[in-house]
Amino acid sequence: MDKEELSKELIKTAVERYPRIAVACSFGKDSMATVHLAREVDPDIPVFSIMTPFKPRETFEYLVKMNEKMGLNTTVYIVAKEVPPVLKEHGVKTVLLPTDEFEAAQSEVERKYGKKIYEVDPDKCCELLKVNPAREAVKNLDAWICGLRNTEGRTRTGVKEIEFRGLVKVNPILNWTEQDVLRYLKRNGIELHPWYTKIFPGGKRIRSLGCEPCTVPIYDWQQEREGRWFGTSKCGGECGIHTRNLK
Ligand code: SF4
Repeated sequence: MDKEELSKELIKTAVERYPRIAVACSFGKDSMATVHLAREVDPDIPVFSIMTPFKPRETFEYLVKMNEKMGLNTTVYIVAKEVPPVLKEHGVKTVLLPTDEFEAAQSEVERKYGKKIYEVDPDKCCELLKVNPAREAVKNLDAWICGLRNTEGRTRTGVKEIEFRGLVKVNPILNWTEQDVLRYLKRNGIELHPWYTKIFPGGKRIRSLGCEPCTVPIYDWQQEREGRWFGTSKCGGECGIHTRNLK
């Protein structure tokens, strides 16, 4: 069986075993492959996405475009007072989560250091804008499907196909390479987020998609996640969604 068939087999088993299951989609390349595979297995599987106010405009636009094109019916979770205009305009289901805790943390950092929270304490920023919303998104689920891969970077080499962090996590493309993902998307006519196709000085590219202030382009010889939180102790690391218990 090839990698693609094995991935689908894993998803099929998970869907049969856990009726309360959904796919997480960041709208990065790995998520797009995962969500496409999952919907080949179960066309009605729910899709959710954790967005933050710091995601680039292109991500919201791409989300809207692919949501419509692939009929994903995505539910977006975001810490914000208002639905981002492009999501509102296109009627994307959006769950707004309270902003108080994030605003208080951001104000404190600004008062103390005169900087943004993601510059001083990215772990706190990720906890409030990503981990807590992920907890909300999975609270009624028994399992979720994610696009983690072992070759993405130092924090993902030991990840397993099935994990348990308060609920079951299934990683069906765990042993796919970056090239496997890109080939799969091309073969299935799934366009990439526009950030992946930009070439930056020195031939650098964005190879892992995150929030705008925490994502930089990198060289092809680097590991994919090395452009995340560049210049901080969290460089190439994790936001916490995949390392913390969500229930
Ligand atoms: S990736 Fe950066 S901006 Fe986004 S939640 Fe984490 S620290 Fe904040």
